[in-house]
Amino acid sequence: MFATRRLPGPALDELAAECDVDVWSDRMPPGADALADRSAAADGLVCLLTDRIDGALLARCPRLRAVSSVSVGVDHVDLAAATARRIPVGHTPGVLTETTADLAFALLLAAARRVVEGDRFVRGGEWAPERVWEPDMLLGRDVHGATLGVVGLGAIGQAVARRAAGFGMRVVGWSKTPRAVPGVASVALGALLAEADFVSVHVALTPETRGLLDADAIARMKPGAVLVNTARGGIVDETALAAALASGRLAGAGLDVFAREPLDSASPLLALPNVVLTPHIGSASEATRAKMATLAIRNLQAALAGHRMPHCANPAVYER
Ligand code: NAP
Repeated sequence: MFATRRLPGPALDELAAECDVDVWSDRMPPGADALADRSAAADGLVCLLTDRIDGALLARCPRLRAVSSVSVGVDHVDLAAATARRIPVGHTPGVLTETTADLAFALLLAAARRVVEGDRFVRGGEWAPERVWEPDMLLGRDVHGATLGVVGLGAIGQAVARRAAGFGMRVVGWSKTPRAVPGVASVALGALLAEADFVSVHVALTPETRGLLDADAIARMKPGAVLVNTARGGIVDETALAAALASGRLAGAGLDVFAREPLDSASPLLALPNVVLTPHIGSASEATRAKMATLAIRNLQAALAGHRMPHCANPAVYER
């Protein structure tokens, strides 16, 4: 078994008691060749979202019988290529839902109430005696009573909607598969963008959702709205978003994910004071990362023992 990184919690050590475990010990992820070379010697691969598992890699690993990602999103894995090889791909839904929803709401609140700008203001020494308190200092947007638009009513989208109810928000939601969610009014995506004061993105990244919030969609957002993205960067056109934020048409954004990670130092988003940026830490709590590791190892153990993975992202491998 090859694991592309050390994982939090005891799961990898427990697995090492059962089988040979090769763990990539560098802080940086393995490059494409190292990934292929080490995976080629393994029956099972535990990977992260930083590892590109494509058809070319799988072709170099004829021995590989299972791939298990320590993530719920699997856009870094070519599921069609894995399915063609009848390799099940595990992922970790459920255990990170609430933790990721917490971060989405933290970004929403921080962007709405300009928390990070306020922090910079204090640390930067601008809160000087002659500026003790001003009626129009760092005015933000009210969250209570505002309308939240949830793009993608999957597990995390629904968890964000539950939090919004506690803040007295009205919640509208759009999902490809229509679904009745308590407290959420189902609307078309266009109506959501036009009505929502806050838009929070929670769809998986797929060929269909890549660029879902393109320049046109961003132009249809309500003036003064705030965009939050904790799903995947490729869903949002970052250039159009940066332009809308720079012009003041959008009030702010809270972003945990980016089209390219780490965020390019030339990104226009970095120069904008009204954007709150976090480095893809949606699921990053101690407890949740340990649960994700445990689930990923359970997926791998099941597959290598010839059983169905508890959480398989390409269940077609089990169809005859
Ligand atoms: P989930 O319960 O599976 O929900 C996935 C959502 O994506 C559903 O609303 C689904 O809509 C939608 N979707 C899938 N394919 C679509 C398509 N072709 N067109 C339109 N919508 C589509 O997953 P989740 O646990 O809520 O996670 C959602 C995403 O959040 C993950 O895929 C991952 O990329 C991201 N995430 C990020 C972090 C982070 O660290 N920032 C942490 C966890 C998750 P239907 O049900 O209608 O198909």
